[in-house]
Amino acid sequence: MKKQCAVIGLGRFGGSIAKTLYEMGHEVLAIDNNEDKIQEYADLVTQAVQADSTDEKTLRSLGLRNFSVVVIAIGQDIQASIMATLIVKEMGIGHIVAKAQNELHGKVLDKIGAHKIVYPERDMGSRVAHNLLSPNILDYIELSPDYSILEFVAVQFMIGKSIKELNIRANYGINVMAIKSNNGKINVAPMADDIIMEGDVLVAVGHKDDLHVFEGRMADDK
Ligand code: ADP
Repeated sequence: MKKQCAVIGLGRFGGSIAKTLYEMGHEVLAIDNNEDKIQEYADLVTQAVQADSTDEKTLRSLGLRNFSVVVIAIGQDIQASIMATLIVKEMGIGHIVAKAQNELHGKVLDKIGAHKIVYPERDMGSRVAHNLLSPNILDYIELSPDYSILEFVAVQFMIGKSIKELNIRANYGINVMAIKSNNGKINVAPMADDIIMEGDVLVAVGHKDDLHVFEGRMADDK
């Protein structure tokens, strides 16, 4: 369903969100106080408007009240981010996503009432770090401070073995949720007898301590 979304702050993060939402077919109002940004995004979103998001009257005049999602993607200027979040919260926006520069900034945004806080730099840093440790790790997504999802290419010790033989759950305490084969097929309900083939990509969920042990085992494999 087409949604009315507003993105405030067209830095690298906000700009990418605005473009992607528009490409997905949503209606996107993009706001930035920098004129160059507005020109850059004019053809990439539904409407790009130069405005100061810390000015309540301006935001009201843009009809922001009727939007279903507002993304506050101002990072550097923490004061502006907090003020914009407060203003859209008071407007009664149902879904506010705010980008935080650090934990403290995130806590403030949470207290103000942002519905979702994102930490793009921190999360990307963690994902890249896991991939650096071992190139067969494709992605690492934190679900909570304790649990994560790991996407990895099967390493030698797994190839030709079944999930039962590898006994990943008992040996490592993690659960394989999906297996993507070389031919593009995705098995979203792997069974104990399913054999892991060379080039298979596995998606596993587990406690981050267990995932770290498992990553170490994979790194030793080569
Ligand atoms: P990133 O790290 O994702 O590039 P930045 O914090 O550097 O994020 O960029 C934020 C964007 O928000 C910039 O384009 C900046 O012009 C814009 N911005 C900052 N303060 C305001 C404000 N008060 N009103 C509107 N836009 C703002």
